[in-house]
Amino acid sequence: MSQTDNALIPAYDLIIVGGGIAGSATAAVMARQGWSVLLLEKTEQFVDRVRGEWIAPWGVAETRRLGLYDTLVASGGRHLSRHITYDETLDPAIAESAPLPLDMFCDGVAGPLCIGHPRHCQALFDAALAAGATGLRGVDVTAVHLGAAPQVEYCIGDQVFSARAPLVIGADGRTSQVREAAGIALHQDPPHHWFAGLLVEGAHGWDADTQAIGTEGDFSFLAFPQGDGRVRVYGGWALDQAHRFKGPDGPRRFLDAFAMNCSPRNRHLVEGRPAGPLQWFINADAWTDEPFVAGGVLAGDAAGWNDPILGLGLSISYRDVRIITDILKATGPGGTPDFALYAQERTERLRRLRFVAQIQARLDMEYGEVAQARRHSLHERSAADPTLRLHAVAVMAGPEAAPPEVFTDAHRNRVLGLQEA
Ligand SMILES: Cc1cc2nc3c(=O)[nH]c(=O)nc-3n(C[C@H](O)[C@H](O)[C@H](O)COP(=O)(O)OP(=O)(O)OC[C@H]3O[C@@H](n4cnc5c(N)ncnc54)[C@H](O)[C@@H]3O)c2cc1C
Repeated sequence: MSQTDNALIPAYDLIIVGGGIAGSATAAVMARQGWSVLLLEKTEQFVDRVRGEWIAPWGVAETRRLGLYDTLVASGGRHLSRHITYDETLDPAIAESAPLPLDMFCDGVAGPLCIGHPRHCQALFDAALAAGATGLRGVDVTAVHLGAAPQVEYCIGDQVFSARAPLVIGADGRTSQVREAAGIALHQDPPHHWFAGLLVEGAHGWDADTQAIGTEGDFSFLAFPQGDGRVRVYGGWALDQAHRFKGPDGPRRFLDAFAMNCSPRNRHLVEGRPAGPLQWFINADAWTDEPFVAGGVLAGDAAGWNDPILGLGLSISYRDVRIITDILKATGPGGTPDFALYAQERTERLRRLRFVAQIQARLDMEYGEVAQARRHSLHERSAADPTLRLHAVAVMAGPEAAPPEVFTDAHRNRVLGLQEA
């Protein structure tokens, strides 16, 4: 292509591929800085894809630092104040007698924030447009060129377009096209369990401020109320039952699996109705060694993700956005940003969270006598020694808030009751 041809291609300070959480949040923040931003989103409408609807307290703190918290609350985001852990080895009255207060993890944060994922994405996309970003929907990205002169080619319907910018951000989720164009390898752990989510409506008896988890028999559950009798529920089960909830009555059978003696209040979930698709995933962590190349950087799931058992993908995405936008602000439009510190911080962040997810998966998502005895033993021992629960601080307050020794084999062995190697 000649210089003259190149000059005809529209130029922006920043092109972002993917207008979900990480992409729209980045676009909003940088457009507010006065940058010209092109935001390209594949879907014409955000729909329920069974993605995260619970933002951990440290993620809420990140939304504040980004100036996006008010946008989320105005779009229906609501805080939860109590957590209850149920278990088949625990009397429900005992479990309910000591709920965990959720306002104690981050200064000034009332607790985790719940907001439906489609509404969350739309609120951020609208905020980006309101700040002056050019946001396009129904976009099919056909080519991404990175390096010294980044350029993106895309179609909307049968019309073909190109745009250029000094930097392309890949915020296009797990199967990132930008990651592929950058040649950045994705590493993945072996899957540990099945994990499915469903939005339930009509569960009016469920306490609207209380989240809960629990395991009984061969099934584990998590429940996060969304308001107005709607609850986002997740279930986990063993890998050898691949067909467990397949078929047209799968969502109903999935909800029926929530009937548990150890959590009598689950009857409100069983009485509810499916209000969206049931989708299941094999849970595991995935990560990249260095989520950037010349002319391109990855944010959110595109850069690798944490096992959703911890529910931290949104918080991770907001932290990514905060660090990336801080670097861009310091560099200025047209400059050459250095993402080395982002890569370094993210690698350690994901390493720590992966470590905690592996502990949590072994505790909550394994079944049978050995797993049951392990959970029972932890409940008893942690009553006398609360340090056995310190890894939960990484989930709620952020991976940097827990002491480094939490992320060692010694801590894991103590928690799981394993012998030192
Ligand atoms: C079952 C499950 C439960 C979860 N629960 C939680 C939870 O409770 N809390 C939590 O914090 N996290 C949770 N997560 C993780 C969380 O949903 C993700 O980490 C988060 O959505 C990542 O945001 P993102 O913007 O990187 O990706 P996405 O939300 O996937 O957004 C990517 C966007 O890019 C668009 N796109 C993709 N390809 C292209 C393309 N080629 N061109 C243009 N646009 C493109 C997509 O349409 C989409 O809008 C869960 C995940 C799963 C699977």
